[in-house]
Amino acid sequence: MEMNAEIKALLVSIGSANIDEGLLREVAGTIPSAGPGAGLESFFIKSGGHRVRLSVNKDSPLKVVRCHSGVAVIKDEIEIVTGQLEPVLSHCPEQAYITISGRCINDCKFCPVPLLNGDVKSLDTILRLVEEANQKGNLRAISITSGVAKSAEDEVKKAVDVVKVLKAKYNVPIGVSVYPTETSSEELHAAGATETKYNVETMDPEIFARFCPGLSLDYILKSLEKAVKIFGKNRVTSNFILGLGESDDCVMSGVDQLTKMGVIPNLRPISPHPLRAVEVGVKRPSPERLLKLARYTRKALEENGLRADNAETMCLACTGCDVTPQRDV
Ligand code: SF4
Repeated sequence: MEMNAEIKALLVSIGSANIDEGLLREVAGTIPSAGPGAGLESFFIKSGGHRVRLSVNKDSPLKVVRCHSGVAVIKDEIEIVTGQLEPVLSHCPEQAYITISGRCINDCKFCPVPLLNGDVKSLDTILRLVEEANQKGNLRAISITSGVAKSAEDEVKKAVDVVKVLKAKYNVPIGVSVYPTETSSEELHAAGATETKYNVETMDPEIFARFCPGLSLDYILKSLEKAVKIFGKNRVTSNFILGLGESDDCVMSGVDQLTKMGVIPNLRPISPHPLRAVEVGVKRPSPERLLKLARYTRKALEENGLRADNAETMCLACTGCDVTPQRDV
């Protein structure tokens, strides 16, 4: 059976699977180095025009096994979907998605990056990683993200330098997701970035204050507004996490506010990370909630003349972790 929106929502809601190591080695799973899934080995399944990323978890209720047409996902001893394991270029299929700084001075409570204290990649390392991805073939986009190692200004400067060099070398769209600064949109756009993402994380001000101490939701919203003016329609996105305790009403009014501004919300299920096990109140959304909110977002996008399926870089192009409007529903 091929994947459909309902099956994808079920898989995304669970978010992990038990998979045989030999099978995994065939496509060389990836370890995300940024964002809420950082540090967990994962793999991708493509089926019926949908793609899903699952992290490897021996205790997951899902099991992925080899079958005649590729792989099958088993739940409660029943085969729920078949598909193909998809090779990863760098972090995800068809993209070189590179994290500049795998560390962060901020302390968003859902994110393991501040605790991972990962490396800060040099320009040479980034160029090598992108070229390795390019050599694998079918490189359709380059995406750049970063934690904040020293300051947001410093990360933007590094991203600008990286984009300039990559733009001159590769003829593919480049997306950048960083913490915004006063001039980040102008600088990244002038350097050659085609899409940008500044994450609101949540549109509930009380939850934002609790989970992202020291950061400003108002500032991010103002930065998004400016980014739309500079990058244009369908070129600005924002991650909005599901599962921090926000209500559906909060999500829907947040989606309305963002889409009216010309920003495409990327509803992202929370991945409770072992390093953040002590944080309370996070809950991965149910399949029904994922479908309801993705369908609502699709309607809001269409009412505001926006197309998530035009995205060329980053998560809206990948779709692995989310139920993506206009692609999955
Ligand atoms: S949806 Fe985004 S975070 Fe998830 S695998 Fe794809 S690019 Fe990475």
